[in-house]
Amino acid sequence: MTDTSYDYDLFVLGAGSGGVRAARIAAGHGARVAVAEEHRVGGTCVIRGCVPKKLLVYGAHFAEDLDDAAMFGWDIPSRRFDWPVLRDNVMAEVGRLEGLYGETLANHQVTVLKTRAVVTGPQSLRIADGRTVTAGKILLSPGARPALPDIPGVEHAITSNDVFELEEMPKRVVIAGGGYIANEFAGVFHQLGAHVTIVNRSDTILRGYDEQIVDRLVKTSLAKGIDFRFNAGFDSLEKREDGSILCKMKGCDDIEADQVLFAIGRIPNTEGLGLEELGVELTERGAVKVDEQYRSTVPSIFAVGDVTDRIQLTPVAIREGHAFADTQFGDKPCTVDYDNIPSAVFSHPPIGSVGLTESQAKNKLGVIRTYTSDFRPMKYVLAGRNERALYKIVVDEGSDKVVGVHLIGPDAPEILQGAAVAVKAGLTKADFDATFALHPTMAEELVLMR
Ligand code: NDP
Repeated sequence: MTDTSYDYDLFVLGAGSGGVRAARIAAGHGARVAVAEEHRVGGTCVIRGCVPKKLLVYGAHFAEDLDDAAMFGWDIPSRRFDWPVLRDNVMAEVGRLEGLYGETLANHQVTVLKTRAVVTGPQSLRIADGRTVTAGKILLSPGARPALPDIPGVEHAITSNDVFELEEMPKRVVIAGGGYIANEFAGVFHQLGAHVTIVNRSDTILRGYDEQIVDRLVKTSLAKGIDFRFNAGFDSLEKREDGSILCKMKGCDDIEADQVLFAIGRIPNTEGLGLEELGVELTERGAVKVDEQYRSTVPSIFAVGDVTDRIQLTPVAIREGHAFADTQFGDKPCTVDYDNIPSAVFSHPPIGSVGLTESQAKNKLGVIRTYTSDFRPMKYVLAGRNERALYKIVVDEGSDKVVGVHLIGPDAPEILQGAAVAVKAGLTKADFDATFALHPTMAEELVLMR
């Protein structure tokens, strides 16, 4: 496999989830691998995405847990939230994980170049110090970045990248968008004491999730005090002398805020990489077009993860990177099966979902059955918290197969993972029914719906 006329067998551009996995596996197969990363090893997920976000979600949840503790006999006379403590501890953990990622690459003899790289030919790249590096194959895994609208004053807004570095917790936060990031950070900011307004361009948030589950999230969020402005958008942002921001709106009244967070999707990081000049075809949104083997329109150049703009989820990028490395360097050709990928929204309460929603199943399968359990979790009953969980199972009438499981409630993503195995395995509703309940749990609802 090794062709010593090149500096490396594989050059990976971007050390995020997909790139690191591909580099490690390819090196394990004996390839000489280099990775270029201009920011920090770990990429979006580890440095400014899933991991620090989840830690903030945990931190924020203490607000409700401390409230609920009273009915369980805990007397907590005073409580004070210290944002810098949470922020700095989260960032320290991110630093630790970054170190571990670097160690993993080093242990596999992968060369890490802490620099930007630009593709200059089908098998060559230029790194920031001007050097040219050659490689038999190039893997593009530079990820994506938050989109920002083209409106006056947009420089006063922040993106999810900036949340982890905020000097102080804002009192009023306006969040643009109705997707994963908007709903997750709405929960975090709200629990940490801010007044949150979500502004969405349509009346549908979390498009693609089961409508009943989304409806429950909206109702619960409203009951907690999160505001929504639907069918609304931004004309401009004006910074005022006192540091606040006036959001000039269309479709609703203007809003005053201390921070405005844009969470309106993520754009593939392909600009300035020299790709189009080489004939690497991009989509309208600038994503690299790839085939089943992650090969771009230039045969020696491949791409995985968010830069391909298909399913922007860490486990997907990891699978793709692994499949690429096994196929190209391990003599183990494989493709990724994209069916029934589970997903979670770490909102307050969180959502876990796998398979077809009710409307998708109706469109695809025709006759279906749905089962729902709408219940107040046991710990909320004692705590006096008036919040209900909703579990839903979608079943194909013809085969009795469970084709979708959708949950909203405490720990829904944790509970969903096991159910995702069942859906992936094609188990039937009868299999669910035959399974004994684990009592008393919330998860037992999954096998008790009749
Ligand atoms: P999403 O794609 O989840 O949501 C984008 C939201 O912004 C939608 O409500 C969309 O509306 C709206 N929108 C899109 N374009 C515009 C525009 N030009 N003006 C106004 N509103 C707009 O994006 P996020 O930024 O929340 O997250 C990016 C990706 O990151 C996600 O798709 C997901 O793959 C990943 N992610 C996953 C997480 C997880 O697994 N828990 C957590 C965080 C991120 P409409 O529906 O009308 O298009």
